[in-house]
Amino acid sequence: MRILVAGGAGFIGSHYVRSLLSGRYPGAEDAQVTVLDKLTYAGTLANLGPVEDHPRHTFVRGDITDVRLLNDVVAGHDVIINFAAETHVDRSIAGPGDFVVTNVHGTQALLQAALDANVRTFIQVSTDEVYGSVAVGSWTESEPLQPNSPYSAAKAGADLLCRAYHQTYGLDVRVTRCSNNYGPYQHPEKVVPLFVTNLIDGRRVPLYGDGRHVREWLHVDDHCRAVQLVLDKGSAGEVYNIGGGLELTNRELTERLLALFGRGAEMVEYVPDRLGHDQRYSVDSGKIRAIGFHPHVPFDEGLADVVRWYRDHQNWWRRLT
Ligand code: NAD
Repeated sequence: MRILVAGGAGFIGSHYVRSLLSGRYPGAEDAQVTVLDKLTYAGTLANLGPVEDHPRHTFVRGDITDVRLLNDVVAGHDVIINFAAETHVDRSIAGPGDFVVTNVHGTQALLQAALDANVRTFIQVSTDEVYGSVAVGSWTESEPLQPNSPYSAAKAGADLLCRAYHQTYGLDVRVTRCSNNYGPYQHPEKVVPLFVTNLIDGRRVPLYGDGRHVREWLHVDDHCRAVQLVLDKGSAGEVYNIGGGLELTNRELTERLLALFGRGAEMVEYVPDRLGHDQRYSVDSGKIRAIGFHPHVPFDEGLADVVRWYRDHQNWWRRLT
């Protein structure tokens, strides 16, 4: 099987590639992997360091909006998994344009290339943020999309194009919508590594608004296993929510991190809230659980591992801050 992983040099994509090439996904031990990544500020070859010389790995530096390049690169692949995106909500508020180009136009270009090259299955890695905020209960896959940030609106646009390529052309497209991820190799602009790296340096952590926004957390390793499960056992044209089931306010998340550093409330700096900040995300993961998904990584263990990883890999993150 030949798998093209777009955005495979980023946080989640690189975790998927490292896991796949280390033989952790039964049935995919002989998969050939092509990583296609533009290497924006968010992507780095250092994330693929452990598999750099792996005989079943090829790296191509390129942009998913580059139609000519896609015609060359996509041919011969059985599967495309699209992790490539502009991903930071704050950056999307400051400048939405790049988000529409990569997340919408780039996904369409990749879908078209998949169709032209007879790719068997296309997996679009989307986000729970496309549903917008939910006050009570949890979104199922059939809820209407009500994205509120330019980031989530661009991801929702991509999801709808995936649906259209399935309905119109019969392409086997599967969409995953995961909740917030944490784990090693996450860019230090995102909340968990931002807080961890600040605390390593003895600096205060900036908490938005009243800290009462609620997010559902899942370890990146569980997310990637879920993506592989959707490839193995999912169905064409379907959407799968992926949630960890653990909801925390940002204040609770901060308290758990502070406890790991033996610090207290004196290390918190409350900062003005993000524009249009969604209050709560929560997905119903019943559909993916029905095909066999269970998260493996207990949150407190995973979080302590992350703190250790950032302490031990300061060369990796210091050049990004
Ligand atoms: P990331 O920002 O760490 O990585 C994105 C990668 O895409 C980088 O390697 C970057 O170089 C690459 N890229 C960006 N634009 C590109 C382009 N035009 N062409 C080719 N490559 C390009 O993001 P991440 O956190 O790993 O997220 C991966 C995917 O998972 C995204 O689609 C995101 O929407 C989704 N997701 C993320 C989370 C989360 O908590 N991080 C949760 C749910 C879903």
